[in-house]
Amino acid sequence: MKVLVINSGSSSLKYQLYDMTTEAVLAKGLVERIGMDSSILTHKPTGKESVTEVSEILEHNMAIRKVLDKLTDKVCGVLESIEEIDAIGHRVVHGGETFKQSALVDGDAKHEIRKLIDLAPLHNPAAMMGINASEANMPGVPQVVVFDTAFHQTMPEKSYLYPIPRVLYNKYKVRRYGAHGTSHAYVSEKAAEYLGKPIESLKIITCHIGNGASLTAVDGGISVDTSMGMTPLEGLMMGTRSGDLDPAIVPFVMNKEDLTVNEVNSMLNKHSGLLAISGTSSDMRDITDGMQAGEPNATLAFEMYEYRLRKYVGAYAAAMNGVDVIVFTAGIGENSIIVREKVCENLTYLGVELDKSLNAIRSDDPRRISTENSKVEVLVIPTNEELMIARDTFRIVSEQ
Ligand code: AMP
Repeated sequence: MKVLVINSGSSSLKYQLYDMTTEAVLAKGLVERIGMDSSILTHKPTGKESVTEVSEILEHNMAIRKVLDKLTDKVCGVLESIEEIDAIGHRVVHGGETFKQSALVDGDAKHEIRKLIDLAPLHNPAAMMGINASEANMPGVPQVVVFDTAFHQTMPEKSYLYPIPRVLYNKYKVRRYGAHGTSHAYVSEKAAEYLGKPIESLKIITCHIGNGASLTAVDGGISVDTSMGMTPLEGLMMGTRSGDLDPAIVPFVMNKEDLTVNEVNSMLNKHSGLLAISGTSSDMRDITDGMQAGEPNATLAFEMYEYRLRKYVGAYAAAMNGVDVIVFTAGIGENSIIVREKVCENLTYLGVELDKSLNAIRSDDPRRISTENSKVEVLVIPTNEELMIARDTFRIVSEQ
């Protein structure tokens, strides 16, 4: 079965085509700047030359058409015809309480995703555009939706409720949902597989730290707590997001600076985090370069980032009454030797012992970076959300 995985943003569309017999990626690519002048399509067929094409791509329907043209192109294509695509899997950010797992797309599913737009006003409409565009261009091909929130639907009430009037939950479903669920699920499963132990026997803390960042406490394979909340703003300090803060700061700043709701939202989501403290960049590479050059603001940004991350690891070890495995993943988790080193250096009380030479090795494979004597296994596992989406799509479509 060949599965096309689509991750549709408001002005972008990422894709990967899988052959599920081997789970090989046949091609992948990205359409950027949809709806703007000079949209860019980058197509990377496995084993062939990549292609970059600049043109005007007005909306998602046209973007999918262009992608299908590339997939079936005589030179850079990997398919004889579109009919070879057996199923399509879509990443959807918010599944609310409705979607506890991935689902086949039908009228009801689309209706429910639309109903959740309130909770993800930027992301769910983009996913709907991808779904509708796929349907228009590949009618009759089954589609599956895979949600970033679904893995965290196992959180108990004590984790997901906020201590605020219950009426807000009853009326508006104000609660914690978490995010990056597909990634946390993938790396926790992969960690158990790597260690050769049943996931049911493990207490795992997964650290998905990229531009956005979240930690999850995975107890026996089940998400029992995660650091993102009703929106992806809660929790860790991130590239441009504040993470946790005293909620009273919001009305205080709005009042003092005469800010609107949108302005304060933008401040906390786009102008905070590493960017705000360093004053220069949201990218961890720039922050660590700055720190190594003795730049005080970059150093402070790094220290705050690491400190807040480490506090969450401690909190989740407490939440599960222990931890067997800590997994680092995503852009920073997979690549930043110094972030991993500084976090682990301060977790010796848990029995963590980092092997600095293993930590310094760069590789795309899952690997252990703790010593043999470490009481906690520390692993680096490259995430693969697309493969997880392809697997769910394959499973659900095969069951039909
Ligand atoms: P992601 O959102 O998972 O793609 O992660 C993107 C982030 O990973 C970037 O903003 C960088 O801060 C970080 N990153 C990528 N490569 C490195 C690296 N070699 N060292 C430190 N951070 C990195």
